[in-house]
Amino acid sequence: MPEQVVINSIEFARNGESLNGIAAVANLSRLQDLLFSSSGLLEYTLTGKRGENDQLFLVCAVKGMLQLRCQRCLGTLAYPVDLNSELELIEDEQRFPSVVNEDELTDAIKVDPNMDVLALVEDEVLLGLPMAPTHAAGACKAGGNFGQAETDKQNAFSVLAALKAKGHL
Ligand SMILES: [Zn+2]
Repeated sequence: MPEQVVINSIEFARNGESLNGIAAVANLSRLQDLLFSSSGLLEYTLTGKRGENDQLFLVCAVKGMLQLRCQRCLGTLAYPVDLNSELELIEDEQRFPSVVNEDELTDAIKVDPNMDVLALVEDEVLLGLPMAPTHAAGACKAGGNFGQAETDKQNAFSVLAALKAKGHL
């Protein structure tokens, strides 16, 4: 059984607490479909923060390496994770901003007295992944005739932006 890490998110932010740990990739169940191999570790740091107008934030930083599956050749694709997201704690879901800040780094989550830290880490990692990860053109066993990796990256971003605009994220 993976160890569970639970915090009271509002107390954690209010007191400016900080927590870091290591999550085994193999324990992040929702990631598994995207992986070539579940080996590896992700290091995370969660920090509570109080904003100028008394808003409360969690800052979630995750670093490590994932072995994704290339969507072109189905081979292993080393993907460095290095993300840092700021999440505003919102008491009432009705108050969720209809459009998340233009600043991509700020998002909102509902306060939770029993927040599962690893689930949050997994959410953030999932949100940060490209929709269809592939090797760079030329580095892929399937050859370079499938378009450019850059194009894929842009597509992934526009899909994300569309989801955000529709309020799915
Ligand atoms: Zn490939």
